[in-house]
Amino acid sequence: MPDAATDVRALLHRVADEAGDWFAALPDRPVGPEHGQEDLAIAATLPEHPTAAHDVIADLVAEASPGLPAMGSPRYFGFVVGGAQPAGVAADWLVSAWDQNTGLVALTPGLTAVEAIAGRWILDVLRLPADASFAFVTGCQMAHVTALAAARHRVLSDAGHDVERDGLAGAPPIRVLAGGERHVTVDRALRFLGIGSAALVPLEVDERGAMRADALRAALDDGDGRPTIVAAQVGNVNTGAIDPVAEICDAAHAAGAWVHVDGAFGLWAAASPTHRHLVAGVEQADSWATDAHKWLNVPYDSGIAVVRDASAHRAAMSVTAAYLVQPQDGAREPLDWTPEFSRRARGVPVYATLRALGRSGVADLVDRLCACAARFAERLPEVEGFAVLAHEVNQVLVRVDDDAVTAATLAGVQADGTCWPTGTTWRGGTCIRLSVSNWQTTPEDVDRSIDALARAAREARAHTAAPGVGV
Ligand SMILES: *Cc1c(COP(=O)(O)O)cnc(C)c1O
Repeated sequence: MPDAATDVRALLHRVADEAGDWFAALPDRPVGPEHGQEDLAIAATLPEHPTAAHDVIADLVAEASPGLPAMGSPRYFGFVVGGAQPAGVAADWLVSAWDQNTGLVALTPGLTAVEAIAGRWILDVLRLPADASFAFVTGCQMAHVTALAAARHRVLSDAGHDVERDGLAGAPPIRVLAGGERHVTVDRALRFLGIGSAALVPLEVDERGAMRADALRAALDDGDGRPTIVAAQVGNVNTGAIDPVAEICDAAHAAGAWVHVDGAFGLWAAASPTHRHLVAGVEQADSWATDAHKWLNVPYDSGIAVVRDASAHRAAMSVTAAYLVQPQDGAREPLDWTPEFSRRARGVPVYATLRALGRSGVADLVDRLCACAARFAERLPEVEGFAVLAHEVNQVLVRVDDDAVTAATLAGVQADGTCWPTGTTWRGGTCIRLSVSNWQTTPEDVDRSIDALARAAREARAHTAAPGVGV
């Protein structure tokens, strides 16, 4: 037998070097992956016999690396992808090494204590009610499921139906009012919860893609007393648009409806004194879903559900069994709030990141990324052919000439590797999305990226204008 302790130490040191190299290369390496999945040579035959861990790791690095984009690059602007900050990465490694099942206080008092504090800090920085309940889940998708399960409990319980006991059979149908440009994860959460995507009534949005308060009021008036959940959005994935949450909460609450907020990234505006006016009133909602792996830049997977009515949240999620030792002092049991049972301590990297940044560091992170997005929005229109269709918080939506030139510009800039935006279709037109979501992004990164976009556009136009090249 090898000396197991020495072996593990050497293995982890090796991985630390590997990870250090990865971080060091991020600012300069091409942002896109070198190869697509079809060109990778990853060992695909299950070995018959054991392989030394060192060899497994060395081969894994060699085989998978060509397919890795620099998602943590300061010039990765695709989707809404945050880059991991050092304190969070280091804490995440410890979470794996400590390997604590964080479902119960009796299992790991150390890490349930850290998570309980991390949750209170989240309520604090996002300025949500201090006595709201929370759950650390895998991402905003599962935060929706968790929070909307609490919403489902409350609206059905108010209608005299016990959904946890009886399921949805015999329950009055719930309707969900949401903007026409809500995120698809809301619909999927409704499917998971048995509410069904057809229960969703899409409401008219304004020119930025935010829900229209007058459309909501009309829909609420039209409800026949049906149990109603309003799903507001703080941060449209294309435009960054923020629904008028104060008006939404007033109207919905007057009608007895529950207000859930999809604040995957936009809710973080509340952490900044300069930007919190953008989400004014969001604290009046009943539940919130957000991500720590986006704007807070904690490693994947890290989402957070927050619910004002802790009893509804607990009723929807809690579980008891004789062998589950309950804490004597009424301490918070993670599994009473999460859809998972056994789980990793995903709140710990959140704790470490918040502790490293402090209140001012979180505000500064929000302000810096908004400033970089604003720089894109200011400067891109100076480049021939570019139009900024929308810009709010950290999102910028861009178009070059027409669909064909926009698509060719996107393909060109991705191939160039200086930066990595992604595409979308908005209001029927092809667009380029720039999501500034990385703690390392500087104004210089924005300028370099604008140069790369301008270059790609020039080449795209020359190409699409060439005789004989059709669209
Ligand atoms: C990213 C995103 C989601 C989904 O979050 P995951 O963390 O990927 O589950 C939901 N809503 C909005 C607005 C988002 O940007």
